[in-house]
Amino acid sequence: MRNFSSYFEFNPCIICKSNDFKVLKKSKYNEDLNEDKLLQLYKSSSDEKLIDQMVCCKECNLVYLNPRVKSNIILNSYTNSDDPTFFEQNNLRIRTFKKQLNKIVRTLSITPNKNYILDIGCAGGAFPKAAHDLGFKVIGIEPNKWLVNEGIKKYNIDLKSGILSDFNFQKENFNIITLWDVIEHLTNPEEVLHSISHIIKNDGYLLINYPDVNSLACKLMRSKWPFYLNVHLFYFNRKTINKFLDNCGFKVISCEPFWQTLELGYILKRASAYFKIFKIAYFISKKIKLDKIPFKYNLGQTFIIAQKKAGHEKNLE
Ligand SMILES: [Zn+2]
Repeated sequence: MRNFSSYFEFNPCIICKSNDFKVLKKSKYNEDLNEDKLLQLYKSSSDEKLIDQMVCCKECNLVYLNPRVKSNIILNSYTNSDDPTFFEQNNLRIRTFKKQLNKIVRTLSITPNKNYILDIGCAGGAFPKAAHDLGFKVIGIEPNKWLVNEGIKKYNIDLKSGILSDFNFQKENFNIITLWDVIEHLTNPEEVLHSISHIIKNDGYLLINYPDVNSLACKLMRSKWPFYLNVHLFYFNRKTINKFLDNCGFKVISCEPFWQTLELGYILKRASAYFKIFKIAYFISKKIKLDKIPFKYNLGQTFIIAQKKAGHEKNLE
C-alpha cells in the first residue's frame, strides 16, 4: 500500500483527551486510494461504508474513527458536492420534522413565534422549512452550497452556506439550536458545542439527533449497521453523549428513539447495499408501485433534548 499519511490525522478522545484506545475495526484501504476518492467519501449523505479505523477510548469508551481523514479534506468535500437523491426525500423529512416539532412544542410548552431557531447542518432546508411553517423564526446553515441553493429556491427561507465559525452570531441570540444527524459528522464537535453555548440563550434548548451505537438495531445488525459510514466520525451511546454534553455545559433532559419516515423504495435501495434480499424487495416494491409509500423506521436514531446549564458561559471566560 502507498503511503497516505499526509491525508490522515490522529486525534485524542473528545471526552477525556486520552490517546489510549483499543482498535474495534481495522482500516480497509485499497491500493488505488487517492485524494479524489477520499473527497468522494464525504458527500453530505454519502453511504460509503466505513473504511477508516474505528477505535474505542480505553478511559471513557467513546467509539470514534482514529486516525481519520484530515478535517480540511472532509470539509472541502462537503462544501463542493451535489446530492440530488438526498433532496428527493425532503417532503417526507419535512413531515417527520413537523410531527417531532409539534411534540417538542407540547413537551416544553413553548410558543413558536416567540422562539428563534438555528439549525446547524440543515442540508436542503427540510427542518428550517418545517419550523418556518409552524411559526418559528428560523435560520439554517449548511456547508454544502448546492443543497443551500436548492433549499432557498424551493422554500424561500433563510438558509446560508457555511459552517458555524463562518458566522458572527450575537451572544445569547437563539432560543433553540438543532443538530439533526450532524454531531457524528463534525470534525471538532467540542469547538462547535462551545460556540453553541455562547450563542444560545441561558435557558435555551439544544436538540440533537444521532445514531446510537448501543441501540438494539446496532447490536443485531453488527457490522452491517447502516450508520457505520466513513462520514460518521463519532459513535456515541447514551452514556458518552451525556458525558460529552455535560463537559460542554449542557444537561440532557430527555432521550428517546427517533422514528424517521422516508419512501419505502429509497430505504430498500439503500438497504440493498448491505443485504441482498432488499435488492429483490426493492424491485418488487417498484413493480407493485409501493416504492413511493411513506415508511416509518428506527435503526438506532436517538433524539436528545438538552438545556444549557446556568453559569456555564461564565466558567468559560
Ligand atoms: Zn475518552
